[in-house]
Amino acid sequence: MAAALSAQALQALLARHGVANPALAQELGSLVGERVAHLEAKARDNAQRLRMTEQVFQSTQESIMMTDTAGAIIAVNAAFEQVTGYSEQEVLGQNPRILKSGRHDAAFYQDIFDSLRQAGQWRGEIWNRRKNGQVYPERIVIDAVRGDDGKPEAYVSVSSDVSALRAAHHQVDFLSHHDSLTLLPNRQVLAQRVRDAVTAARTGERQIALLLFNLDRLQRINDSLGHETGDAMLQEMARRAGVVAGPNDTLAHMGGDEFVLLLTDCLDSDAIANTAGRLIEAISRPVQVGGHDLILTASIGISVYPRDGGTPSELLKAADVALSHMKDTGRNGFRFFKGEMNAHALRWMSLETHLRRAIERGELSLHYQPQVAIADGRICSMEALLRWRSPELGQVAPGDFIALAEDTGLILPIGNWVIRQACLQNKAWQDAGMAPLRVAVNVSAHQFMVGNLPEVVADALAESGLEARYLEVELTESVMMHDSEATAAQLARLTDMGVSISLDDFGTGYSSLGYLSRFMLDKLKIDQTFVRNITTEPRSAAIAQATIALAHGLSLVVIAEGVETEAQYQFLKAIGCDEVQGYLFSRPVPPDQMENLICGKSSLAHLA
Ligand code: C2E
Ligand code: MG
Ligand code: MG
Repeated sequence: MAAALSAQALQALLARHGVANPALAQELGSLVGERVAHLEAKARDNAQRLRMTEQVFQSTQESIMMTDTAGAIIAVNAAFEQVTGYSEQEVLGQNPRILKSGRHDAAFYQDIFDSLRQAGQWRGEIWNRRKNGQVYPERIVIDAVRGDDGKPEAYVSVSSDVSALRAAHHQVDFLSHHDSLTLLPNRQVLAQRVRDAVTAARTGERQIALLLFNLDRLQRINDSLGHETGDAMLQEMARRAGVVAGPNDTLAHMGGDEFVLLLTDCLDSDAIANTAGRLIEAISRPVQVGGHDLILTASIGISVYPRDGGTPSELLKAADVALSHMKDTGRNGFRFFKGEMNAHALRWMSLETHLRRAIERGELSLHYQPQVAIADGRICSMEALLRWRSPELGQVAPGDFIALAEDTGLILPIGNWVIRQACLQNKAWQDAGMAPLRVAVNVSAHQFMVGNLPEVVADALAESGLEARYLEVELTESVMMHDSEATAAQLARLTDMGVSISLDDFGTGYSSLGYLSRFMLDKLKIDQTFVRNITTEPRSAAIAQATIALAHGLSLVVIAEGVETEAQYQFLKAIGCDEVQGYLFSRPVPPDQMENLICGKSSLAHLA
């Protein structure tokens, strides 16, 4: 249409100038028409682009602001309005200065202008202020828009409000340093505060004290009233302890029901004790929960810098020892570590705590060591030896924990477990069709002292179904030294039941020939200290030889322990020893390996 109109107009125009050439007019007309159509299409295209740009401009998440070269705002988008709180009407013609937070100095803004002028761009973070006065961080890119001549015609800034991101970062940071329930600093923060306090205290006269405290029996509240109540109690106790803490002290939550109050400015022990007393008093005030008065108490262990340690972990350990002491002697009180408890006691205590849980956590096991008859070189019995693998302490040798178990009375449940386990295992092997063997268990003097060993043994036999003749009890000379009447009576009952009795470590205690005749024994075990030197030291050889003669005279079987070399074995054989046990044949091994040895799937080392 446009092309036709133009052709007519052109013909008239040419005619007015004396050119009557319709073909030329036609050609020029269509040329002009094409040109016009092209321009119209381009205009449509531009309009569409503009609409799209406008749409992007308005719908983008980033806030966009355009200024002219004089710095007056000429356009902003919806995101800008939302972030700053200003409408477009309010800011048009204004200088972006209206967003200034006051957090940056003149040099900061000068730097922006300089780089816009030189590089045509600036990017960075800037603190701005919303219309409501709130200051917020923005990540921003400002670009110069240049004209065809290369000169800036306008500036466009695109920015994103990073306050939410920052807040999230802060939250993550906060939670990684604080307990989420009580919002108190955690172990990590405490360690840092202790280090800081130690550094500060080195120069002054003041002491630092670490009050490690437990809420006694919180678990009971959790169990009976539910975890929500338990959590509410924890929060309340944290609040109360916070009131006791001074402005420079740190109250930290170590997890569970355990807290630490770090006092950084203590005059003397009296001041520390005073704070501990107030803490106990604050915790023990009743709490109203669902119409009930609930009462919790606290036990506190206290360590003091520099007396009890110089690092956070030393101080914590010391406080922990003091706390266990407190708990052992009743609760609802405090204890100082003092420092006279040495490293030995420390290990002892942590051993004890772990050992207490060893049975229920299934950390105990039995290994078995074959006992070999010299006459035919075959396994005739085996000794069950206790093994303890603690996840925290690793493998702990019986020599390191049996004495502790005896001191603490833990030997009773442990000893009972050993007897029961050995019977069950031995019966299981027999039920599996393996050649029946006797299993020997070690029994300590404490187990005899309680007086019920025959009952414990009878129960284990009944439960497992093992015949008594396949069980042997190993006792040491110390057993016979205690209350010999009661011991003799128990040994007699065991013998009556059909259980064998052997005397372990013979020669190391107060060996008395009297014992051997007075007590009913079946077997004598020559201690490894004699066996070790049997081929090199005539005295050991003589003792071994005399022991064998004596035992045979009393109709006792003799076994030598700790046989490690072929020479020792040959010597023992030559002097008439009946049985041998030692690394030469096999170390104590777990049940599956013992099974292979019994079945003959694997052979004894000495015979291999
Ligand atoms: P024990 O009853 O005299 O056991 C023999 C110890 O000697 C075992 O040490 C065994 O592994 C080790 N042994 C065996 N053959 C050799 C050898 O050829 N050379 C050397 N150097 N050592 C050998 P283990 O298992 O460390 O037990 C040490 C002690 O702990 C036992 O001495 C026993 O008195 C006590 N014990 C082990 N298990 C129990 C238990 O269940 N109850 C009680 N009350 N005490 C136990
Ligand atoms: Mg033994
Ligand atoms: Mg022994």
